[in-house]
Amino acid sequence: MSRVAYVNGLYVPHAEAAVHVEDRGYQFADGVYEVCEVRGGRMVDERRHMGRLQRSLRELRIAMPMSLHALGVVLRETIRRNRVRDGIVYLQVTRGVARRDHYFPSPDTPPSIVVTARASIPAKAPAPAISGAAVITVPDNRWDRVDIKTVGLLPNVLAKQAAKEAGAREAWFVRDGVVMEGGSTNAWIVTEAGTIVTRPAETGILRGITRTVLLEVANRLGLTVDERDFTLDEAFAAREAFISSASNVVVPIVSIDGKTIGDGKPGPIARSLRDSFYDVAEFARK
Ligand code: PLP
Repeated sequence: MSRVAYVNGLYVPHAEAAVHVEDRGYQFADGVYEVCEVRGGRMVDERRHMGRLQRSLRELRIAMPMSLHALGVVLRETIRRNRVRDGIVYLQVTRGVARRDHYFPSPDTPPSIVVTARASIPAKAPAPAISGAAVITVPDNRWDRVDIKTVGLLPNVLAKQAAKEAGAREAWFVRDGVVMEGGSTNAWIVTEAGTIVTRPAETGILRGITRTVLLEVANRLGLTVDERDFTLDEAFAAREAFISSASNVVVPIVSIDGKTIGDGKPGPIARSLRDSFYDVAEFARK
């Protein structure tokens, strides 16, 4: 079955899907994106992801490329045409195509939109969730508007590649000794006293949709949560650590920079948060 991408109004074979060389996403990383999990053919937390997309676009003064309703139709159609049951749907909006010039193009320049969907490899997905994964740390060298989900991801790319080359799944950005977040995930620890700690999302990190849902899951399970900065030293001494994102949900972290966390096995709090995630996450209609 051949894959299909939605590009600026057309469904095209994935192998031929392309944007113009003067697309501002290509020239300036002048665009934003969203990644939404697809489970059983339905989007998970579509409402929250679309809310964050609108915020990202507003912050950069890029217009919505179409109504929220029309966008929902395109997302569903892309999932359907690619026969994705379990996987992800990816959406990117840029400031459009215009002669290369740093200034914003004229306001009648339509934003560009691309949507792709792909199935996850079922055999691969649950393994790190069961056995736990490693992270390394890197200095946080990103700009200070990482709360906007832009396609300007070069520091994240370099950090994640460094992780891969070190045999780790993720890299944690550390600033002044404080763990900020991962290259494409939010970062969490569980203290010796059993309190779940994750950094506040007002500035310095992306407010993960999975993070938001997990805070609600923890609340429902009666677990104690503290939204505050935590240091790398606290993480080394933590009982548990884990990462969250739409494509990982919760993956336990059993080593940081080669140091074993807790007893080196996935912990019970990470497991129970993962197990209860879909009780709180919203399933969109097909
Ligand atoms: N932090 C960063 C830097 C990310 O890129 C992502 C996801 O791509 C996340 C956190 C997790 O966000 P979400 O839970 O919405 O997938």
